Amino acid sequence: MPELPEVETSRRGIEPHILNKKIKSVVIRQHQLRWPIPGQLPDRINNLKLTRLSRRGKYLLLGFGNNETVILHLGMSGSLRICTAATPAGKHDHIDFVFSNKKILRLNDPRKFGCVLLTDEPVESHKLLAKLGPEPLSEDFTADYLYAQSRKRRCAIKSFIMNSHVVVGVGNIYASEALFLAGINPNRKAGTLSKTRCFKLVEAIRHILDAAIKQGGTTLRDFSRENGQPGYFAQRLQVYGRAQQACNICGHAIKQISQLNRSTFYCTTCQK
Ligand SMILES: [Zn+2]
Repeated sequence: MPELPEVETSRRGIEPHILNKKIKSVVIRQHQLRWPIPGQLPDRINNLKLTRLSRRGKYLLLGFGNNETVILHLGMSGSLRICTAATPAGKHDHIDFVFSNKKILRLNDPRKFGCVLLTDEPVESHKLLAKLGPEPLSEDFTADYLYAQSRKRRCAIKSFIMNSHVVVGVGNIYASEALFLAGINPNRKAGTLSKTRCFKLVEAIRHILDAAIKQGGTTLRDFSRENGQPGYFAQRLQVYGRAQQACNICGHAIKQISQLNRSTFYCTTCQK
């Protein structure tokens, strides 16, 4: 599943091709994604210039003149590429944004859990975005914030940091990895974390996501490859997917458990 680093890497990869270019046409081949693509979308953004390409959580925001914003989510299996009309659309290529420089931003999504929506309201108050917590790499995500939010919370710290109302973009793999880096047991109740440990966890989350974005930038150099999809990258992982293998710090076996139906991996010695 595309996580925050993949979405940010996609954003950086496609931006140079289409920023400040005008929409020439929009081709919708499949209207029914997670929600229907609005039928008036092509008319409303036609001839408008893409003036802003930003990200909020795992949503890509294509901002056009005239206050129109396309909200795009990659769902479970979506990916974006830059191509031209010379590349025939495949079975799962659901929508093309054709720009004035003849480049096409093409969404491929085999499982159709992604979305393409349109709003002319301030996008941060859109119902999909309004209740999202801070960006993990922003200055708003601090130890003080995490400490305050977690007081009296009895849920496991791993579930807590994966809650997008608390902080966005900490997916299942990154949550396990960040908790390992911070030395925190994923089962620990969120409300029992000291401020010092909140600081360590904030730093760990930032570090893990930042490293993934940096690696994505080197792995996914070319978003306009003519063949195949941009392959998402496999990070070097310390605990995730390493059940029964030796912990890289202490050598004890990594343990796998299930939390809210998601796999969690951790070291019972290093994480308290
Ligand atoms: Zn260990």
